[in-house]
Amino acid sequence: MSGGDSLAFEISPNPAPVSDVERAALLADPGFGRLFTDHMVVIKYQKDKGWHEARVDPHGPISVSPAMAALHYAQEIFEGLKAYHCADGGVSLFRPDENARRFQRSAERMSMPRLPEELFLTSIEKLLDVDRAWVPTQDEASLYLRPFMFASEVFLGVRPAHECLYMVIASPVGPYFSGGVQPVTVWVSDNYTRAAPGGTGEAKCGGNYAASLAAQAEAIEAGCDQVVFLDAVERQWVDELGGMNVFYVYDDGSLVTPSLTGSILPGITRESVITLAREAGHEVIERPYSMREWRDDAASGRLREAFACGTAAVITPIGAVKSPAGQFTVADGGTGEVTGKLRAELLDIQHGRTEDRHGWVRRIA
Ligand SMILES: *Cc1c(COP(=O)(O)O)cnc(C)c1O
Repeated sequence: MSGGDSLAFEISPNPAPVSDVERAALLADPGFGRLFTDHMVVIKYQKDKGWHEARVDPHGPISVSPAMAALHYAQEIFEGLKAYHCADGGVSLFRPDENARRFQRSAERMSMPRLPEELFLTSIEKLLDVDRAWVPTQDEASLYLRPFMFASEVFLGVRPAHECLYMVIASPVGPYFSGGVQPVTVWVSDNYTRAAPGGTGEAKCGGNYAASLAAQAEAIEAGCDQVVFLDAVERQWVDELGGMNVFYVYDDGSLVTPSLTGSILPGITRESVITLAREAGHEVIERPYSMREWRDDAASGRLREAFACGTAAVITPIGAVKSPAGQFTVADGGTGEVTGKLRAELLDIQHGRTEDRHGWVRRIA
């Protein structure tokens, strides 16, 4: 039983919302992921009842049993998307139906119930109904939405939980990297991989992130911003960064991005970039891409640009690559022209500053 397509939401307004003056001050410099809006969505799932009890509650702590399954076996998935302030004063989402479908695929991989696509979309709209004043209006800022689901059953036996909680919280955010849009330096880890064939690399689950933190710490230690993860079998093919997909721009105008092998998270930004680049006349090739060709083609100058992409960081140039074996830069280490153009075009579509040729933008207010 799944149910839930037409659940009514019970709305409990926050009795003490942040004042207009205080919110304006907070939104002037939101940072990333440290501020939260006044409300949150909660929907319950039980195996014998399906989806039930949909609520919009004041944002706040939830009380759970120390025997709750997710705390022990990490049965948890999430999504990340943004609400954008539009040029005409409205608010929009970018391809939220794709997030809804990916959430279902992640749920299947983690043996969790599928949340109906309509309920996913409605839950986000309900939250934005009450918290739309939290959508920042300045350039490069947005309201980051975090839908997630976890095994809420109180049970220590190892099997798919019979009870889950789906929630959505929202956080106003500025640029992901504190330095603004500047090229990042990435670290190639010898010691750690992120996802193996048959594993959970394709699912957006917290466990993948937990597993990536040791490598990320190593990167910071080496003076880098992010980790490049290589495939777990041969340790030579580029998979992705811990939370972003990667692209390479060649001197003949073609783009290369690692093909989706099962250990790579299929990014919605990745897919959008492929579409936009092809429209702009670039050939885009999805194929395995080795660390050796990254190094050799950067050295020969054939590789002109490299960038990472994802909802949080949009498109971020990769200026330099470090590993225990040494270090190299991509071209002059700056922001390449193709990278800059794709980034600007994507942001223009998301913020309603240019025509939405693909029906990617969903207006909600
Ligand atoms: C979310 C995520 C991405 C980027 O996906 P988008 O849909 O573009 O935001 C890339 N890699 C990992 C591991 C992710 O979790």
